[in-house]
Amino acid sequence: FKIKMDELELKEELGKGQYGTVQKVFHKATNVVMAMKEIRLELDEAKLNQILMELDILHKSTSPFIVEFYGAFFIESCVYYCMEYMDAGSLDKLYGDGVPEEVLSKIANSMLHGLKFLKDELSIIHRDVKPTNVLVNKAGQVKLCDFGVSGQLANSLAKTNIGCQSYMAPERIQAVNTYSVSSDVWSLGLSLVEVAGGKYPYINDNMFAQLKAIIDEEPPKLPSHFSEEAHSFISDCLRKDATQRPTYSQLLQHPFIKKYEDVDVDMAAWAVAANLSRASH
Ligand code: ADP
Repeated sequence: FKIKMDELELKEELGKGQYGTVQKVFHKATNVVMAMKEIRLELDEAKLNQILMELDILHKSTSPFIVEFYGAFFIESCVYYCMEYMDAGSLDKLYGDGVPEEVLSKIANSMLHGLKFLKDELSIIHRDVKPTNVLVNKAGQVKLCDFGVSGQLANSLAKTNIGCQSYMAPERIQAVNTYSVSSDVWSLGLSLVEVAGGKYPYINDNMFAQLKAIIDEEPPKLPSHFSEEAHSFISDCLRKDATQRPTYSQLLQHPFIKKYEDVDVDMAAWAVAANLSRASH
């Protein structure tokens, strides 16, 4: 089915991103609460139509590790992207001072499944793996959003902004246009260090110094109280030589993932508590 603006009841704003706002909406015809992202683009109708066509592949395959896509439309030069509403919010607002190891392992597990699905089923690399693009619901599910399905959309956005906290792998900073799956593996590792320790691990007040540190310094590590398996997983993801980083299949077999696979971690309780303490801050 196609979604139109006049079928939506607008609710509160959920957040502001780099390119526009995200708003909670209610789709009356289907009784579904959705999150609607407004993306401002100065593009002609042909380019906007191309974006809608490219997004259409998202209707064809779904995964429990990817935020569901409900549909998109444009009004004037804004694209409105309607997706599954994730009621605990994004990981950057949930990690607080850091998460326990078993929660980190489950988050890593879901992210790996999501990234592997994108690669195997849709042949796409995410290109923007970071805590803001990992959404959580109060059932404890962890899902990826904001991946580069639409080449046209990605191109239009790339011209706009590069952000001030870099999750870019060293090879991306050093050589333009080298991007492979292994760059996403770096971003995954870096995101997990941030989630584990409660803060972005590089200096943050000087973009040049930050990029220099990513290239020249030793990769960041987890806080010392994490297990040997956890440390090993992170140092595998954060190998500075991209060719030395493991694949998603290899990472899914890593002891850090295996160790907690049969452990019933109450992710729902964690998500609800994290969301609550975020609301009171
Ligand atoms: P960015 O441009 O920084 O990636 P977004 O524009 O994607 O940010 O999102 C802005 C904020 O809106 C996020 O930080 C998140 O808290 C919220 N948000 C985005 N998508 C959803 C969703 N599907 N469900 C609930 N909240 C969302």
